[in-house]
Amino acid sequence: MHVKTFKQGIHPAYNKELTSGKELKLAQNPAQVVIPMRQHMGAPCDPLVQKGDTVKVGQKIGDSQSFVSAPIHASVSGVVKDVREVEIGAGGKSLAVIIESDGQNTLHEDVRPKGDLSSLSAEDIRMIIREAGIVGMGGATFPTQVKLSIPEGKTVDTMILNGAECEPYLTVDHRVMLEQAEEVVYGLKALMKAIGVTKGYIGIEDNKTNAIKVLTEACTGEAGIEVVPLHTKYPQGGEKMLITAITGREVPSGGLPADAGCVVNNVTTAVAVTKAIREGMPLIERPVTITGHGIKNPQNLIVKIGTSVSELIEQAGGFNGTPGKVILGGPMMGPSAHNIDVPVQKGTSGVLVLTVNDAQDFEPQPCIRCARCVDVCPVFLMPITLANQSQHKMYAEMENYNVLDCIECGSCSYICPAKRPLVHYIRLGKAEVLAQRRKKK
Ligand code: SF4
Ligand code: SF4
Repeated sequence: MHVKTFKQGIHPAYNKELTSGKELKLAQNPAQVVIPMRQHMGAPCDPLVQKGDTVKVGQKIGDSQSFVSAPIHASVSGVVKDVREVEIGAGGKSLAVIIESDGQNTLHEDVRPKGDLSSLSAEDIRMIIREAGIVGMGGATFPTQVKLSIPEGKTVDTMILNGAECEPYLTVDHRVMLEQAEEVVYGLKALMKAIGVTKGYIGIEDNKTNAIKVLTEACTGEAGIEVVPLHTKYPQGGEKMLITAITGREVPSGGLPADAGCVVNNVTTAVAVTKAIREGMPLIERPVTITGHGIKNPQNLIVKIGTSVSELIEQAGGFNGTPGKVILGGPMMGPSAHNIDVPVQKGTSGVLVLTVNDAQDFEPQPCIRCARCVDVCPVFLMPITLANQSQHKMYAEMENYNVLDCIECGSCSYICPAKRPLVHYIRLGKAEVLAQRRKKK
């Protein structure tokens, strides 16, 4: 099998065998869901319901006038118990609609098929995706309809589906590709039509040979669509890395995938698009890998948005001894959760429970100038220089050293023999550079 890849990157322990053979199962129906109004990049939504209202599955309960946003829908039917601020993710806060389920899962009248793909225009598809509240489900949560609105002056000819799932431990995209291959291909065709391109690729790492086989079969006879096996290497699923590996094109510094003629979406996002068109079902649930050696029975569950992370841990058998750390997502990019009573959101691809041993933090040592962080950076930055600049608040210098190209993949921190928290400092500095840019505007 001929595999493609990008330059640099790392090979962490993948630990995917804990769940890669476990089929997707429906999680138990939650008695209550807590649905945050801020669970995507861009403007948060304003609640459209209030305490005491009755809601049905798929009913829009939050929306925003802002272009960069995505509406939010009820994932259960029942009664709105409260609308208030709650803790989400890694310590952030958001206004949330709290719904007590009536156990009936009654569908809202708006949930109905949107017509055959051949009869829908590009604009129809983009509007269906917008109204369904679909965002990037690989974790980035960028509103999909915004990605599909190609900026004026840019020419795009290629849609790429990301099936790399390069984050260690996570296996939901793998299971989706195996179990919902036809839906993945249908979603890809819809996404291609939405931006008017005739070339589509599905990039899959070669540690998922069964998914490569199943999707290659599902694409047989589909004009312009190709499955591309990729070398298993982190961060192969980064947009820039995928584009380079698959098309040989480079996204310029400070540029967007559209500058290389491409739009990238995740395979699970493609399935959400299929459901929105075929069933009229908005994004109200998502697959989540609950895994790690700190959990008794790791598994892949389809979970209603708003379900508590603590309920998922219980459904996976509970903690295996004293947990060392709980991470929402994968170990490379996922934030640590200090509280497990937080809701699953549209971008929650995994709940990783590390043991005390796995989570051991090492005391950072002085830099030994080995340059290994430079050697692995997939966007060719100088992580040690950026981290030092950040510590010394040299934000103008950081901008000159292209800090905004950093994809926060964590490869530099991972490889550092002195265990320096490089990505932590770079992330802080990057946020400050962005804040100063906004101020200037
Ligand atoms: S500098 Fe940024 S992009 Fe480069 S390895 Fe570190 S986290 Fe990844
Ligand atoms: S990898 Fe660590 S020790 Fe080596 S140059 Fe980078 S920061 Fe310094």
